[in-house]
Amino acid sequence: MAGGDEASNIAAGIGLPALGGAFGLAVIGVGIIIPLALFSIIKLREPVKETSTTAGQTTCSTWGNAPAGFQTAITTSANKVGIQPALLGAIFLDEHGNNWARPNADGTWARGGRAVGPYQIEDFDNKWKTVTEDGYSSKVYCAPSTTAPAGKTCVNVESIEDSSLAAADFIKHILTGAKLPPTTADKNEVRCTGAGYNAGPAKCTTWKNAGYPEDSQPHTTDEYHNRTWVNFQKLFVGCQSSAAQAGTAPDSGNVCGVTAVDKSKITIAGSPDARLMPPAAKNFNELADEYAKDTGNKLVISSMYRTHHKQICLCMTNDTAEQAACMARDESSITSTDYLKANGKCKNTNANPPGASMHEAGLAFDINIKSFTEAQWNVLKTIAPNFNFNISKTSKGVFKNAEAWHFDYIGLENQYWYGAPKISNAITSANKTCN
Ligand SMILES: [Zn+2]
Repeated sequence: MAGGDEASNIAAGIGLPALGGAFGLAVIGVGIIIPLALFSIIKLREPVKETSTTAGQTTCSTWGNAPAGFQTAITTSANKVGIQPALLGAIFLDEHGNNWARPNADGTWARGGRAVGPYQIEDFDNKWKTVTEDGYSSKVYCAPSTTAPAGKTCVNVESIEDSSLAAADFIKHILTGAKLPPTTADKNEVRCTGAGYNAGPAKCTTWKNAGYPEDSQPHTTDEYHNRTWVNFQKLFVGCQSSAAQAGTAPDSGNVCGVTAVDKSKITIAGSPDARLMPPAAKNFNELADEYAKDTGNKLVISSMYRTHHKQICLCMTNDTAEQAACMARDESSITSTDYLKANGKCKNTNANPPGASMHEAGLAFDINIKSFTEAQWNVLKTIAPNFNFNISKTSKGVFKNAEAWHFDYIGLENQYWYGAPKISNAITSANKTCN
């Protein structure tokens, strides 16, 4: 689903640590984002230095309920710093309305006021302060247009890896001020972490010192601390080593350029450009494996990524020879009247106009439906969502209907799904060259 305004997903997101220097006072900006423009600054004592910190000392490092890329970033960061991975994952979910939110097409994340990046860490006065604890000492937060000191690199505040580590560091070293066991699975301590992350560590400290009275829970945005517990429980079950959900890290690699799928896993019909956006390609390969396992057949694929030129030619005609002639023309010589009807729709009624196809975004594939029995197609339709693909809505899930051959990638739905301008952002991303 469209999911509405992305910014609304993080309305409950809270700006968070502006950590004061490597070992100095931590100045925590606690800003409640839209619509509650509340902002205050809490000064803390220096975080307690722990001598017993052992990286990886968590009660569960094999949790597995985040999409795969999040899983890696969160687990790595949590273990490096020494906090419970499910706790860090819960905080991410809290910051994004309980969703595995995704970045914008350009790789940045929706901002909530000063709060930036995957964990909505406060970009206080346009600078993140230094976090140098644990394994993080080679990275510093750099003010805009500044460079890192010799031997250091700047933190990328929009990166899931960097910000996971920063958020983990905050939980460990700032909330340690509230004397929380950072590897906790205790309900009150988990909620206390959420309260501290959301509304400042003092919220947690006060509540904890009072013995966690249920009738005076810390005031947090949108019951943030209780959602932390709910989200934590969802993720903590992964400690029983369930498989990670399909999905890929929302890093910059996902937003520039399509990549080849594994052609050995499929049968090609026609001459599709067998590429998809990286997370979709990864999921597609997994889907192809599962389909082969379930049916004993390879998926027969007729279309994947399409260039703008290709979409123009497909929009123009259903005739493959005419399409080939169109492809042979210089794209700039083709005008919209060549392929669009007066009503703006394609002359080929099976195609979307250029600029409006998920194929151009590298986020859709078509099967050669003539090679499928209804039973095989049913298998595909049923398992596809496990790999972030959905049968076209136009098909209404009926084998003989139009578009029953078309599957859309939904794994990036917060970013790409449904309509302008998201589709055009996605197309731009698919056609972008990364360096
Ligand atoms: Zn299609």
